[in-house]
Amino acid sequence: MSTATNLMAHFQKALMLRDKRQKRDLHALNSDGMVVCNPRDKEAAHRAEMERIGTDDRAAVTCRKCLSVLYQHDRVQDEGE
Ligand SMILES: [Zn+2]
Repeated sequence: MSTATNLMAHFQKALMLRDKRQKRDLHALNSDGMVVCNPRDKEAAHRAEMERIGTDDRAAVTCRKCLSVLYQHDRVQDEGE
């Protein structure tokens, strides 16, 4: 087994364990209905919808990646004024 395969297996296991222990992060959805931290992944968008872990209420978002993307987006808009 290659090191990369080992790492991947370890990572997936860690993710599964984390999901069971912790409350799911709530992700932000963009205007296309895609998950902000993973905007190219239609599967992720579908999952977010099915599992109700996506929201367009920014105040409810807990995913750090989504929040940082939203924050940077706001900053870019502010600077464009
Ligand atoms: Zn997210």
